[in-house]
Amino acid sequence: MPIKRLLIANRGEIAVRIIRAARELGIETVQVHSAADADSRAVQLADRAIDIGPPQAAKSYLNVDAILEAARSAGADAIHPGYGFLAENADFADAVVAAGMAFVGPSGDTIRLMGDKAAARRQAQEAGVPTVPGSDGVIGDMDAAKALAVDLGFPVMIKAAAGGGGRGIRIAHNADEFATLAPQASSEALAAFGDGGIYVEKVIERARHIEVQVLGDGTDVVHCYERECSLQRRRQKVWEEAPSVALKPEVREGLCTSAVALAKSVGYSGAGTIEYLYDDATGDYYFIEMNTRIQVEHPVTEMICGVDLVAEMIRIAGGEKLRLAQAGLRASGHAIEVRLNAEDPANNFMPFPGQIAELTLPDGPGVRFDHMLYRGYQIPPFYDSLLGKLIVWGEDREHAMARLGRALGELSVTGLPTTAPLFQALLASDDVRASAVHTRWLEPWLEENQHMIMDRGGAAA
Ligand code: ADP
Ligand code: ADP
Ligand code: MG
Repeated sequence: MPIKRLLIANRGEIAVRIIRAARELGIETVQVHSAADADSRAVQLADRAIDIGPPQAAKSYLNVDAILEAARSAGADAIHPGYGFLAENADFADAVVAAGMAFVGPSGDTIRLMGDKAAARRQAQEAGVPTVPGSDGVIGDMDAAKALAVDLGFPVMIKAAAGGGGRGIRIAHNADEFATLAPQASSEALAAFGDGGIYVEKVIERARHIEVQVLGDGTDVVHCYERECSLQRRRQKVWEEAPSVALKPEVREGLCTSAVALAKSVGYSGAGTIEYLYDDATGDYYFIEMNTRIQVEHPVTEMICGVDLVAEMIRIAGGEKLRLAQAGLRASGHAIEVRLNAEDPANNFMPFPGQIAELTLPDGPGVRFDHMLYRGYQIPPFYDSLLGKLIVWGEDREHAMARLGRALGELSVTGLPTTAPLFQALLASDDVRASAVHTRWLEPWLEENQHMIMDRGGAAA
């Protein structure tokens, strides 16, 4: 049934993004919020706002009962979970459906399967998608796991099956380290995610992070090409682009086709992302995980494909069949997104929740800024530090980088430090300009170029 009233169980820039898509579809919006977000932009923009509890996420944005009660009292017929919070919580998806509403995303069973990163690896293997060499499912026996790690060759990664957002990953460089780290990783995963399952993967050195956007309606699945997110700090993405200039057409075809095959194998419904590591030297790619939700970096795909991914996922949740045929999905030009965080790049990216004093936003041709800011806004200290995302489109990568530099020059946020100076510095890097990067390129570069970021205003508050 078409959705008439959508509740947004999230906050920040993604809540604003979802409200916009809903409004264009003629859908009413109900924004739930914590006590700390009463003056947020999403609350201001939505048709209706409902307070669901105290600032701590566990008592508000993760409070399933409070969210379902708000949805019932507001007469919502669907819930969009955004990313983070409850977006990949299978029990929440089931509870929404049990309460008679649509969950904007795949079924609880699909989330359960693909959200367990070890189970997802097995699913990928069954669908014929190459995975990183590693353990067969979660580790049961520590001695057997150590023997496997030795066989794989160090370094190896110990990953939490329930991990996400760059958390729950450790690297072991030798058997002794493995023997110490693996049990630690398991007990930490139990504390952080409520699931102590861990698995092992060989470390792919100098790999690029390439991910494929898919959209499915439970029967058909299409892809919207790839994004490259190799510039990462602490395994979190800071700069994303589409397409990846590193892929030859036949590799792109293989990646995108394998992503569709995997999504089809689970009857995928909604927007999803299949993440891979790509080895330039060998041309090999390996599945690492699937994110069963909209991703932070989805706008770069929207810019090159001319598709509104959030609107499409809402339509699908409302029972529509896919409106897009693969043959009609063409990518054109190049898009780059940078994440503007309330962090101080001159001080080890320390989160710095403050008040927005002055604000000048970039605009003009090919520029999009998805954000949650206004002058005088006090950033609450309780949540992640993402303030917004600057996205540019150009005819090619060169043009997109020129636009990014121009738009960053127009952007001015005062009152608190942001990551903006980092991106000006990155644009000046020969490796970035040539896209000669991999997932472990950024961290050592940051060590060496701290002075350049500070010169560009990283220390100015
Ligand atoms: P993206 O590729 O969309 O950036 P991330 O994995 O970085 O995906 O996660 C996006 C958001 O979701 C971040 O705010 C991250 O902290 C959060 N997140 C993802 N997975 C989890 C998880 N398992 N537990 C807590 N937060 C998560
Ligand atoms: P999360 O669920 O936290 O997003 P991922 O499994 O997607 O975790 O991995 C996050 C990042 O960690 C990847 O983008 C990549 O930079 C790095 N990574 C993950 N697995 C490997 C691996 N086997 N070898 C090298 N780097 C990896
Ligand atoms: Mg990931």
